[in-house]
Amino acid sequence: MTYDTIITDSHVILPNGMIEKNILIDEGKIVGFTTDTPACDHKINGAGLVSIPGPIDTHVHYGVYSPINEAAKTESHAAAIGGITTMMRMLRLGDPFTNSLQAQLDTASKNHYVDYAIHASIFTPQQINEMNYCIEKGITSFKIYMNLGGEVGHVYMDMPPNSSSLVEAQVNVTDELVEQTVKAAAELGCPVLVHAEDYESCGCGIKTAKEKNQDGLSAWSSSRSPEFEAKAIKTISKFGRDYDCVIYFVHIGSERALKQIEEEKKLGTKIFVETCPHYLTLSYEKQSGYLAKVMPPIRTEDDRKAVWNALSNNQIDTIGTDHVANQLKLKLDGENVWSALAGFPGIGTAIPILLNDGINQKKISLEQFVRFTSQNAAQIFGMYPQKGTLEKDSDADITMIDLKKEKTVTSDLFGGFSDYIVYEGRNLTGWPVKTIVRGEIIAENFEVIGKLGHGKLVDRKINLFSK
Ligand SMILES: [Zn+2]
Repeated sequence: MTYDTIITDSHVILPNGMIEKNILIDEGKIVGFTTDTPACDHKINGAGLVSIPGPIDTHVHYGVYSPINEAAKTESHAAAIGGITTMMRMLRLGDPFTNSLQAQLDTASKNHYVDYAIHASIFTPQQINEMNYCIEKGITSFKIYMNLGGEVGHVYMDMPPNSSSLVEAQVNVTDELVEQTVKAAAELGCPVLVHAEDYESCGCGIKTAKEKNQDGLSAWSSSRSPEFEAKAIKTISKFGRDYDCVIYFVHIGSERALKQIEEEKKLGTKIFVETCPHYLTLSYEKQSGYLAKVMPPIRTEDDRKAVWNALSNNQIDTIGTDHVANQLKLKLDGENVWSALAGFPGIGTAIPILLNDGINQKKISLEQFVRFTSQNAAQIFGMYPQKGTLEKDSDADITMIDLKKEKTVTSDLFGGFSDYIVYEGRNLTGWPVKTIVRGEIIAENFEVIGKLGHGKLVDRKINLFSK
C-alpha cells in the first residue's frame, strides 16, 4: 500500500523519550514509525528538526473584539504560525446557551485553520442548568470568573457572529454561583476552570489606588494583590473538596498563589495549574507603559523566577496563553493604567518563548515541554490520546521545531487581529517551522498554506477523574 505522508529524519519526542525514526501518516493519523522509507504520496524532510505532539493552547480569547467569523480566521492563522495545532476558546455568552451557542458553533466550524475546543463560561443560574446542553454540543469544561462582580463586574462578552458591535455586560459571580457551578460540574464529570481573584478585594484595592492617584503596572499589581488570588483559591478549593470536582486554575503567575495551591492539594483537592508565557517573561519591575496590563497582573522578578521554578518542578501542568485578540485603539483608550484594557495577544509567541527561555536555557527538558504544551492538556480536557502524543493511532498533529532558528518578534509576523505585541523586537532562538494538523501542513516557515475550514471541533471525553 501507499501511505499519504512520511516525515523523515526528525527527532521524534514520544512519552518515553526521543527516537530517531520516520513517521508514517495515513488519513490524518499516525500509523507507524520506520527506519526505511515505504511508498508515500508526500515526503516531508525533517532533517535537523524536532517533531513534537501539536501544542494545545488551553486559554484563548477570540470572538470578543471581532466576531468569530473573522476572529477564527485571524487567530487560528496566528496559532498555526506559532506552532499551535489546537486552540481552546474561552467562550463568554451573556444570554442562555440555548439561544446563542449554536450560531457560534456553526460559524466556528467553517473558519479555523487549526483544530479547536471550547470552554463555556458560567455567569447565571440558568447557564448552570444548561451545562448538560453544552456537553451535548461537545463543550465539556466550564470557566468561572471569580474576579467579576460588584464594582468590578464589567466584562465584554463574545460578539454574535457577523456582528460589528461590542457586547458589554455587568455580571456578579458570587460565591453561591461558584459553588453551584462546581457542584453541577462534579455531577457531570467535567473540570471547572477558575479565574481566581476575589472581586470584592480587587474592587477595594482599585478604589484605594485610584484615590491615591497611583499609576503604572506596579499600581495595577498592588491593587490586585496576590493575597486576593490566594483568597479565591481557598474558597473554590474548598468547594472542589466538598463536591469532588476537578479544579483547573488558569493563569497562575504569583508565588503566593502557587503556595496556596500546594496547600489545597495537600488538603485533598484535585487541582491542575496553568501558567502563561507572560508570567515567565515579564515583571512590572522591568516593564513600562500599559501594554502588559493583564488580569491577574504581572508581578515581581521574584514571582517570575518562582513560576519558572514551579514549572521546572512540575508543580504547573499546562501553558495557556490567555491570548486576547484586541487592538491598540481599544487597549490604550485613556491616559492611565486604570482606563487601559486588560489582556494582550500571545498565541504566536508561546512556543518560541518556551524554546528560547526554557529549553535553550535548560530550565525544562524537551519531555517536560511536551507535557506542558500538549500531553497534560489533552489528558485533563479529555482529548488524549487523540491529541497530546505522537503514538500510533493518534491524530497526526505534529509541530516541527528548529531549536537553532533565530527570529525577531514583530506584531505582523502572525497575521492576527492585533496591531501590537508586548514582545515586539525580542530576538528569540527556537521556532516552529512546520505546523501539521491531522496530516496536512497548515503553516510552513511563517506562512499559512493550509485550507481555511480544515480546523475541527475536537471530540472530548468526560468523567476522566473518577472518584
Ligand atoms: Zn483569560
